[in-house]
Amino acid sequence: MNIPVSDAILSIKPYIPGKPIEEVEREYGIANSIKIASNENPLGPSPKAIEAIRGALGNLHRYPDGSAYYLVRKLAEKLNVSPENIVLGNGSDEVIGMLTRVLLQPGDEAILPQPAFLVYDMMIRCDSATPVYVPLKSLAIDLESMKNKVTPKTRMIFLTNPNNPTGTIISKAAFEDFLESVPPEVVIVADEAYIEFVRNADCFHGLDYLYGGRPVVTLRTFSKVYGLAGLRIGYGVMPKQLAELLNRIRQPFNANSLAQVAAMAALDDTAFFRKTLKTVHEGLEFLEKELDRLGVRHFPTQANFFLIDMKKNAAEVFEGFLKQGVIVRSMISYGFPEYIRVNVGTHEENVRFIKAMENLI
Ligand SMILES: *Cc1c(COP(=O)(O)O)cnc(C)c1O
Repeated sequence: MNIPVSDAILSIKPYIPGKPIEEVEREYGIANSIKIASNENPLGPSPKAIEAIRGALGNLHRYPDGSAYYLVRKLAEKLNVSPENIVLGNGSDEVIGMLTRVLLQPGDEAILPQPAFLVYDMMIRCDSATPVYVPLKSLAIDLESMKNKVTPKTRMIFLTNPNNPTGTIISKAAFEDFLESVPPEVVIVADEAYIEFVRNADCFHGLDYLYGGRPVVTLRTFSKVYGLAGLRIGYGVMPKQLAELLNRIRQPFNANSLAQVAAMAALDDTAFFRKTLKTVHEGLEFLEKELDRLGVRHFPTQANFFLIDMKKNAAEVFEGFLKQGVIVRSMISYGFPEYIRVNVGTHEENVRFIKAMENLI
């Protein structure tokens, strides 16, 4: 078959999804494995969200509210922004795609860190634009080098804060200096998927710059701290003019009805939110102490995950953990051939991970 498609589409590397846990368990003859590979919430979904979903099931024959009226207003109030600043997505992934579609024309450039969240590259290429990579410096986003990559073709810049997969942050001072040196028409996207976990008060927050007269977009998600990754709901907060453009191309029912009610309930579930932060922060302390005891090199983080230097091939390490029923993420495809990334689990999961690590080294 010869199906003519653009070089842009052909340049996209197919995303290779992991196998379902059940398949992996069958293949390796293991049971009760734990997955600490995708930065998900170890406590499960917010219980209030589950309850809200149960209550909404009887209305599944209806289309969702295309404006997500109540959720948008609730978010606006919580974030102290106007509802016109908010665009919801089928996960923040979809908002990334809406931004690139609106902002990028063939031949335009978008600057992003290397390595970065894979969705940025995919979406930039979908719109026949060019990803311009800037390698990390000491595992952190290198704003100085990013500045130097700006050309008249630059339309947008992706900043992941905290960064995935390294867990580093960008300080307020560094961001403000950066903002001053970037042309005012270039859109800056602050992907804050893990911002709720940050403990360093110097960390910059995109929302602080929303009304500063510059196109700064903040991306947030319900997939991590709220435990709703499977529902697919996230959002962008951006200047009204930009939101209006995104709404022109947004599919009217992109935020499904269960996601809308669950997200609202999760925002009210302060007990779950606090318990998640406590679990993650205490878990990090435990894991860091245990890895130090074992003499395993690991890196500081402001997120719910961190990098570990295994000093041997990460594919072998991955297998070694898998055989013990522990699923971690190899960082080979991110350009760290001997690193793995793990997220904080429940205390029981953390203990199992450390035991597996002890067996492996
Ligand atoms: C997990 C994650 C997201 C969230 O994506 P959703 O589509 O909202 O689930 C966004 N950006 C980064 C860097 C992430 O790691």
